[in-house]
Amino acid sequence: MDAIVKPLRKASLSDHVKGVTLGARPSREEAEAAVRTLIAYAGDDPAREGLLETPKRVVDAYEELYRGYRECPAEVLDRTFSEIGGYDDLVLVRDIVFNSQCEHHMMPFMGKAHIAYKPVERVVGLSKLARLVDVYARRLQTQEHMTAQIATAIEEILNPRGVAVMIEAEHMCMSLRGVEKLGSSTVTTHFVGSFRDDPADQVRFMTLLRKG
Ligand SMILES: [Zn+2]
Repeated sequence: MDAIVKPLRKASLSDHVKGVTLGARPSREEAEAAVRTLIAYAGDDPAREGLLETPKRVVDAYEELYRGYRECPAEVLDRTFSEIGGYDDLVLVRDIVFNSQCEHHMMPFMGKAHIAYKPVERVVGLSKLARLVDVYARRLQTQEHMTAQIATAIEEILNPRGVAVMIEAEHMCMSLRGVEKLGSSTVTTHFVGSFRDDPADQVRFMTLLRKG
């Protein structure tokens, strides 16, 4: 199968699919100073020996946890395969493990994403769907937005017959603070095209997810 890169008509894509345009970024020194402020606010002494390197580590961690702001979903899905040999049934990738940060508390939520789509002419490498999840997960998120954004990116770039995305996740802001409900999980779904319009497609998606 030959990989082909089709020119994307970027103007027609949603903003979050094209990538995020960032404003001026504070300096690393400013970011580390902000962490020292939060340590002091928590009640500890940022100058205490055990905490001296902490601001540097926290800012390093931010580079990983929020790297999705510097990645472009459209580019992740850009390389598609056009020879699909008449395959027009659904493609399902399930149990894509991710972790993200909730935009309300900046605390982790983690879980699994399941993605299905029904290709028309173009399919994408399966690992690209996992990478797409990571691009959106490595930003400040709500689970609802992330579910919809993943579906929209696949819809706009692959133009499939339909897309289904389900995310199950546990939110640390619910487990460790607030109502402190350890182990509860939140499920969100977003259906586009045939998965939205044809109950049979939805049923197949849900049935395949339940298979062991
Ligand atoms: Zn939260």
